[in-house]
Amino acid sequence: MAHPDDAELFCAGTLIRLADLGWEIHIVTAAPGDCGTTTETRWAISARRTEEARKAASLVAASYHCLDEHDGLIVYDRPTLQKCLDLFRRVAPSLVITHPAKDYMIDHEMVSLLARAASFLYAAPNASEVPLRKGSRVPYLYYCDPAEGVDPLGHPVEPTTLVDVTRQLDKKTVMLACHASQREWLRAHHGTDEYLDSMKRLAAMRGGQGGMAAAEAFVQHRGHAYPRDDLLASLFPAEKSA
Ligand SMILES: [Zn+2]
Repeated sequence: MAHPDDAELFCAGTLIRLADLGWEIHIVTAAPGDCGTTTETRWAISARRTEEARKAASLVAASYHCLDEHDGLIVYDRPTLQKCLDLFRRVAPSLVITHPAKDYMIDHEMVSLLARAASFLYAAPNASEVPLRKGSRVPYLYYCDPAEGVDPLGHPVEPTTLVDVTRQLDKKTVMLACHASQREWLRAHHGTDEYLDSMKRLAAMRGGQGGMAAAEAFVQHRGHAYPRDDLLASLFPAEKSA
């Protein structure tokens, strides 16, 4: 993901379900959220948000990693891609969830490209100096929702996969609320708890499309070389109502 809180906003319910199945979870952000403030220095807010991200990740026993890029300045270039490749080599992910290719913020689009490229290449022996772990291969790749479920031109995104997070919504909310610096800022700005409310609105909207109270939506990357069977759908099949 690009920033601390993006994973909690768009896929934490699914991460909770994966953790419950025994999956090892890693949450990675490209930047530490250094522009997410109106009052603090870049360094102070980065330290605070890193701690918030670590706390949220700990709720699903996840490791939190940051590539130490800067908010608003995340780019698809050789040094950043190499950092991604090196991290992928250490983690050897079998399932990757990242931002969609088109989203309201360019940081998200850059991260989408970086994650897609690293997924494709990391298992090639010469892609990184980091030793290749056994079982490394092109992982399942899914794009989470863009903000509000619409692309930058306002067109609704059609998901390939809905994951029911009705039972995980409370914990997802607690994870998102770990990002207190962002919640306080939006609360002061809007006068409502918009931070948590907007997440719940999207979960309810996606849930409504599948007859669930709350869901997270994904589009699976099914291009050449990537696994094409819908892993998330087979792990979390929609429950049939009696
Ligand atoms: Zn973001």
